[in-house]
Amino acid sequence: MSQATIHNLDPATGELIEEIPCATEAEVQAKVARARNAWPAWRGMDSGQRLDLLRAVLKRLEEEAPELGALLSREMGKPLSQAIGEVRGYAKHLAGELDEVALAIAPQIMPGSEDEVLLSREPHGVVAVITPWNFPVGMPAQILIPALGAGNTVVFKPSEHVPLTGAFLARLFQEHLPDGVLELLQGGGPVGAALVEEEVDMIAFVGSRATGIAIMRSAAGSLKRLVLELGGKDPLLVFADADLEAAAICATQNSLRNTGQVCCSVERVLVERSVAQRFEKLVLQEAGNWPFGDPQVKQTCMGPLVSESQRDNVVAHVADAREKGARIALGGELPKGSGWFYPATVIVDAPSDAKVIRDETFGPVVCLTCFDTEDEAVERANDTVYGLGANVWTGDPERGRRVSAGLRAGQVGVNRYLGGAPGTPWVGARQSGVGFLGGIEGHRQFTTPKTVATAPS
Ligand code: NAD
Repeated sequence: MSQATIHNLDPATGELIEEIPCATEAEVQAKVARARNAWPAWRGMDSGQRLDLLRAVLKRLEEEAPELGALLSREMGKPLSQAIGEVRGYAKHLAGELDEVALAIAPQIMPGSEDEVLLSREPHGVVAVITPWNFPVGMPAQILIPALGAGNTVVFKPSEHVPLTGAFLARLFQEHLPDGVLELLQGGGPVGAALVEEEVDMIAFVGSRATGIAIMRSAAGSLKRLVLELGGKDPLLVFADADLEAAAICATQNSLRNTGQVCCSVERVLVERSVAQRFEKLVLQEAGNWPFGDPQVKQTCMGPLVSESQRDNVVAHVADAREKGARIALGGELPKGSGWFYPATVIVDAPSDAKVIRDETFGPVVCLTCFDTEDEAVERANDTVYGLGANVWTGDPERGRRVSAGLRAGQVGVNRYLGGAPGTPWVGARQSGVGFLGGIEGHRQFTTPKTVATAPS
């Protein structure tokens, strides 16, 4: 494979943390073979025992949150307190989900027949788990728990931007699980591509739409099962009758959180024209509270972007918007000094063909445009290939229901940010995903239903 090592760089300084060898093709094959060999015993284990082992992993994850959070923060630039919060939050949340996994995979005797009809949920076999860097613990853990819990074995490839965090997480699983049940591969795109070409039974992937398309193509050759959680271009709609202060805080915080590097970031804010000026002032006030800084300092709320190329993408979006006539109301200038920092930026009135309106920016940018009618707002919100999340802010409950019904997204927040209740899945609608994760239906994607009907003796 083309790249021999990962240059693992600290995004706050640009300095080398460590050089890590990428897996060779032979290693990819060997790890898939080890996971395949471990599968029969893991699949045959009593499911309660399997889930207890995973419970022990999650307990360790919670205990290791300070150390793992510090490593995560150094590798990807997430502020330290948020990085520790990510580890603790997912450990707690997934411990709660284990009971749901148990329910999802429990066999059922089906009524309605004189025969005994047993519906069971069979694991697929070996699952390739390939994940991004923006939630380096949360994204893999939310797949590893249901995939392993259902009785699959896993070959896990973390993002090349967070290899040490990935290795730490893998070690916690490996310390509690039998040999071969979770295998780790390090490397970038070429290693991921080699893994999906191997004889794995399922690919569970979180990452960009472009990589999702490449994976789907490669999987077609042997009809591998897929779950793809991809990018988004989420709209947030603000009507004139909304609580403008609350809407401005929600829009700004969710454009800037994690330096804008969240799949369900607010990427486009559409505001009713009559309140646009007032709304912009409120956004500028809130965005002023988001200075960037050293992620290791306790008070920092926004760290650097993860890499130079990620920052180049943001710079290109801002330059393109400026060239096409948008007004930059805040930020928009590359800071001096080391690291891949970028200031909180507010862009106003970018035209519909601007990159910042069409493509995922994945940076600390609040992008404001105006609309005149409800129909126009919904049409423009849906004018994207993506369909991850969407938000509506209005004082009229009837309009809230009408508009949320018209928005083509997997999850919609009305007068609040996105979020469900326990048991609701996380869904990328349209080209934001294939399949989904979470909830009983999400956990079942790591299984195939099997019916055994036995005639009475
Ligand atoms: P990416 O697609 O560049 O990389 C994701 C992973 O895929 C990495 O591990 C990478 O090494 C690997 N990879 C790259 N090319 C590959 C190939 N050809 N075959 C197999 N694997 C390959 O994405 P990224 O930059 O790491 O992450 C950011 C993206 O992830 C954004 O688009 C974001 O919206 C998305 N994301 C989505 C969700 C969700 O729940 N929908 C959550 C987090 C992030």
